[in-house]
Amino acid sequence: MTRVFDEDLTAGFATRAIHAGQRPEPLAGAIMTPIYQTSTYVQEGLGQNKGYEYARGKNPTREALERNVAALEGGRHGFAFSSGMGALDSIMKLFRTGDHVVCGENVYGGTFRLFDKLLQNFGLRFTYVDTRDPQRIEDALTPETRLVLVETPTNPLMRITDLRASAEIAHRANALLLVDNTFASPFFQRPFDFGADIVYHSTTKYLNGHSDMVGGIAVVNDDDLAARLQFILNSAGAVPGPFDAWLALRGTKTLHLRMPRHDENGRTIAAWLVERLGEDKVFYPGLPSHPQHELAKRQMSGFGGMISVELGTKERAAQVLGRCRLFSLAESLGGVESLISHPASMTHASVPLEHRMELGISDGLIRLSCGVEDVGDLLADLEHAFHVV
Ligand SMILES: *Cc1c(COP(=O)(O)O)cnc(C)c1O
Repeated sequence: MTRVFDEDLTAGFATRAIHAGQRPEPLAGAIMTPIYQTSTYVQEGLGQNKGYEYARGKNPTREALERNVAALEGGRHGFAFSSGMGALDSIMKLFRTGDHVVCGENVYGGTFRLFDKLLQNFGLRFTYVDTRDPQRIEDALTPETRLVLVETPTNPLMRITDLRASAEIAHRANALLLVDNTFASPFFQRPFDFGADIVYHSTTKYLNGHSDMVGGIAVVNDDDLAARLQFILNSAGAVPGPFDAWLALRGTKTLHLRMPRHDENGRTIAAWLVERLGEDKVFYPGLPSHPQHELAKRQMSGFGGMISVELGTKERAAQVLGRCRLFSLAESLGGVESLISHPASMTHASVPLEHRMELGISDGLIRLSCGVEDVGDLLADLEHAFHVV
């Protein structure tokens, strides 16, 4: 009897989340993929092995995660890394000195830091543009452009980029479109449907969903790109340990249960915030008042739990943060528990002040990652915290 344990892309999202990439373990039939906590594999003879030689290159637990997330994104090849930044750093090794990258100006702070403080020193060139307007991407292209990188929705301002338009512009210039899909997760947005070439994630966030590991993953469709990424993965070695891969794999099994609840709580809390502060102070793509709500609806099937709020001054932000009891003050996002943060001094502290101000990441901006608790309790917490504003 054949069983649907493998990458059956015709199966529904929930079935793929639970089964894709996994098969019963051959020794005892354990239904859960074991944590292959090993550095090497015994070979039967010279040149004879079971396809595994050394665990930097391949590990069965990691492979199960890679196949699983690839199936969720609708891609063919996954590559797991030790962090989201590790994934991006390895992806960037596809390029060489003189290559030019057009990058969204409002990307994750660590992405900007990697490019501006490190990769620039190796002769890669970057132009940062407001990708809400695809024409700006087009205008920034040079004959050396090899990559367009967009993040949508962005962190923390929840701006949306048209994925289809970005892919068309990139492809006309013979460049690849790379999409950071961390905020939406494949449950709400699948960039391959719109022409992306590489999709990557910080698995630390929604994919794992339990705030108990740090990891990254890249997914591609193209076989040649896959071979090059596997070569980089093995050469540069930014791989996750098997236990972290296993935790992420355990997380993805419930992605389809968690995301609708993040979304429901996000919508409810965003509506409450609008009532309290006015629609121009609340950034959430699920709000009809969001300037790109229509585009968000076209390429996303839900909006998740990330909301940013403008409170005007750092003092007010500090007061609100200090009064929260259920929302914990912490960096990161996408876990089952609700978090609150201050981007200017936390996640985006490495973005130069002037650039931060231009982007609109002011000292009064706070960011909420709405978890999956009872929304009444979350609202009561915010009611108490916002009492001062
Ligand atoms: C967290 C995050 C990253 C970086 O991932 P790490 O796992 O922390 O290295 C990249 N992009 C986005 C959107 C993120 O939220």
